[in-house]
Order: sequence, then C-alpha cells, then structure tokens
Amino acid sequence: MNTETYRYSADVPVVADIDVLVVGGGPAGIAAALASARAGARTALVERYGFLGGNATAGLVGPFMTSFNGDSSEQLIKGVFDELVSRMVEIGGAIHPRYVDAGTSYAGFFQKGHGQVTPFDPEAVKLVAAEMMEEAGVKLFLHSFFMETIVGDGGVEGAIILNKSGTQAIRAKVTIDCSADADVAFRAGAKTEQGRVSDGLTQPMTMFFRIAGVEDEKVEQYILDHPDEISPFSDIVEAARKAGKWTINKDQIGLYKTVQPGVWRVNTTRISGKDGTKVEDLVHAELEGRRQVFFLMNFFRANVPGFANASLVDTASQVGVRETRRVVGEYMLTAEDLITGKPFDDVVALYSYPIDLHSPTGGSVEFDENFHTANVYQLPYRILVPVETEGLLVAGRCVSATHEAHAAIRVMPCAFALGQAAGAAAATAVKTSSRLRDIEIGILQEELIRQDVVLPQNLNLGARD
Ligand SMILES: Cc1cc2nc3c(=O)[nH]c(=O)nc-3n(C[C@H](O)[C@H](O)[C@H](O)COP(=O)(O)OP(=O)(O)OC[C@H]3O[C@@H](n4cnc5c(N)ncnc54)[C@H](O)[C@@H]3O)c2cc1C
Repeated sequence: MNTETYRYSADVPVVADIDVLVVGGGPAGIAAALASARAGARTALVERYGFLGGNATAGLVGPFMTSFNGDSSEQLIKGVFDELVSRMVEIGGAIHPRYVDAGTSYAGFFQKGHGQVTPFDPEAVKLVAAEMMEEAGVKLFLHSFFMETIVGDGGVEGAIILNKSGTQAIRAKVTIDCSADADVAFRAGAKTEQGRVSDGLTQPMTMFFRIAGVEDEKVEQYILDHPDEISPFSDIVEAARKAGKWTINKDQIGLYKTVQPGVWRVNTTRISGKDGTKVEDLVHAELEGRRQVFFLMNFFRANVPGFANASLVDTASQVGVRETRRVVGEYMLTAEDLITGKPFDDVVALYSYPIDLHSPTGGSVEFDENFHTANVYQLPYRILVPVETEGLLVAGRCVSATHEAHAAIRVMPCAFALGQAAGAAAATAVKTSSRLRDIEIGILQEELIRQDVVLPQNLNLGARD
C-alpha cells in the first residue's frame, strides 16, 4: 500500500468519525450506504453532485437493465434495487420490470438481455434515494468531492473531501469505493487495471440525451413493419451511411421510450479511444458528445418516423463513461465464470445480463454468441476485496473482473446488488471486529437474505408472479 498518498495538512477538520464511509452516490453507493446503515453501522456517503443516482441521474442513463434471470422467470436482483423501484412506481416515476418485456419500445426494441428492464424518471431516483438515506440515518455529504484517501498503519482510514465549507476529513473503520473509477483505491495505491488486455483501450463513452414531442405509435409501427432489420433502425443507419449522411461511429440507434409520453432517451453518440480518468479526455468527450447530440437531433427529425416534430429536452450533466479502472481483487471474475454459472462459496449476488461489449474502436455492440452467459450466474464477495489493501471494499463498475466479464456486470441493477453486498459486508466486519477479507461469509449471507437479497439459498422462492 502506498502511504505516500496520505498528504493533507494536519489542520483539516475531522467532520465525521464513523463506521462506514461510502464514496460515490450512484447505484452502487446508494445500495452500499443503505445496506450498511440498515445492518447497524454508522454510515456516511460522499457525492460530488447535489443529488444521488450517478449515471441513473447525472448520466441520464436508462432504463435499468434487466433484474431478472435469462429466461425472465425470476427476479434475481431485489433488495435495495427493488425497494427503490417500487417506491418510484408509487409516485409515477417507474414501471416495475415484471411488466416490461424484451423487444418493446421501453427496451429499445432489443431482445437479448433486454427482458424485464425498468423504465424510470431520473427525478424520481433523486427524490426516493435521498428519502431512503434520510430514513436509514445515512449522513449525506453532497456537493463534496473525494480528494484523497486517508491511509494509516491499519490501511485505509477514511477520506479527505472538498466542498463549499473547505477541506474536510472523514474517518471511518471501513471505506467503500463506489466512485466507479476506483478513485479511492487508486489513491490508496491499490492495484488496478484498465481496458482490454491487448491495448488497454476501454469501451467508448456516450452522451445520453432526451427528446420530447415524439409520436410514439409511429416509432413502434416502424419497428413492426421492419422485422428483418439486423438491429433496431439499422436499415436507416445503413442507408444514411451509404449516402454519406451518417458520421457517428456506431451502426445502430438506441432509442428507449420513457415513462413520460412522447419522451425518449437516446443512447447513440459515441466517443472512442478516450480515457475517463484523464480530465483532458473528459473535456473533449463533453464537447464532442454534445456536437453529436445536435447532429442526431437533425438526423432524427429528417429520417426517423415519429421524430419530425421532436425537440431536445436535455443532455446528461456529464458524459457517460462505460469503463475505466477495475481493482485487482482477491478474485477476478472471468467471462468463463459467467458462461458456466460457476458456483462460489462466497456468493453475494446472482445475475444474468449478457456480455455487452461496445467495441473500443469500431461501431458495433458485441453481444457475441460465444459469450452466451448462464441463465443465472454467481458473483463472489472476493471481487469486492482489493488485494493487499486493508479497510477498503469496492462496488459497482470498478470491481475485480476482466474487461469481458466487466461488460456484463457493469449495468445498474448489478451495481446495486454489489453495493448492497459491500455495505452489508462492511457493517458485518465492524460488528464482528474482523478484517474485511476474513469476515464469516455465512453471517454476511444471512444479513443479505434479511435485506431481501436473492442468493442460491432462497432462489426460486419468489418466482415471477
Ligand atoms: C453510455 C452508457 C450506457 C449505459 N447503459 C446502461 C443501461 O441502459 N442500463 C443499465 O442498467 N446500465 C447501463 N450502463 C451502465 C451503468 O450506467 C454503470 O455501469 C453504473 O451506473 C455503474 O454504477 P456505479 O454506482 O458503479 O457508478 P456511477 O453510476 O458512475 O456512480 C458513481 C458515483 O460516484 C460519484 N463520484 C465519482 N467520483 C467522485 C469523486 N471523486 N467525489 C465524489 N463523488 C464521486 C459520481 O458523481 C456518481 O454519482 C451504461 C453506462 C454508460 C456509460
């Protein structure tokens, strides 16, 4: 561990001395903080924006990809995820995934991996997630940027943050890195990897945006009338490409109907070859992403049925980054594990989403048939535990997995599930005075089941109703 990284001046005030600190308030961080607090740990969460949600809000990313098994017969990801969704449904901010089938407009007309997705309103995430934190007693540090990891003799001991009040220290027995970029782990000197093995390149970035004034039925009718297209709207893209009128490095259009009539999300811009941990690349991506948004608005109005009178609602507050650093953990998940459904004694979550690899250089999305994942696969606790680093867990996009395995488990329901596992594990370690890598897995699994998490022990008890 690199103790050189702990270098803030001694007069930084300690504003909290707690059991568990969660850095990052996206899907993983929301679930980690709630699971930790509900398991009895004094918990705080640091988030750079003034609201929670991460890519689900700031990134305008959606829908929540499937939370069910591969054949859509059983919901695998419940716990915090399902509670949040159900509460959003109550206020008109989501449709429960059990009612959303693959191939529908809410699923972007895609089949593979798109059964039982959850369309939602990002504003509902902001409100409901914050209310859940308040009820669970999580101390929120919003508008607060993680700066530096506090590393002491015993390992990671919290973080230095920066906000309008100044520089502040939060001391914690366990810190959970849910920053998506493994910022806390990296600053602690933990081992990380990035991108694919051959050249280190990552999946491309995408600037999401929303469009209003769409005639929903016309879009749906077009898809019904074109069942032979390779992927939704691919004929339109191909014709435009041949005519020299398509300049985006992507060979399909991702259009997702939302819970608001006439409003669709667009997942189609593409910025390749950039590194989401480098500020100059992020600056480039923000500008290039918005250029592509305005190109696409004109393209849709002119070429896509149902979009003639469409207008731009908003672009995401920040460009969507699919992949950056992944920690090297006690176990590194592989594509093979997902394909074979390898059982793990320390299983903490179940999932099914396929390997969804957007080419780092080309225009394709590679749902490769060689990568046909099991109907249910298992995620072990050890992918949350960085090697040679004490006092730290990771969850969400930066867990220990190969580039290929990461392409499946990066989606939001899985980030919630892994966050919940990390939060419950951190609280278990504090309660039992154990090192994170030594906690009794049986106790952790019991706590997760108490929190309505689906594990092999209770699988099939709640099949689809
Ligand atoms: C373009 C794109 C399309 C996608 N499509 C889908 C989809 O359709 N469905 C789906 O389910 N998933 C999709 N995903 C994947 C998914 O959005 C992410 O992998 C997921 O959000 C990861 O969750 P997370 O909590 O790890 O990270 P994030 O959602 O990125 O949350 C990280 C949080 O940490 C905060 N943070 C980061 N650094 C700091 C810091 N230094 N200080 C303070 N706070 C910090 C951020 O502000 C953010 O709130 C997509 C991703 C992208 C980029």
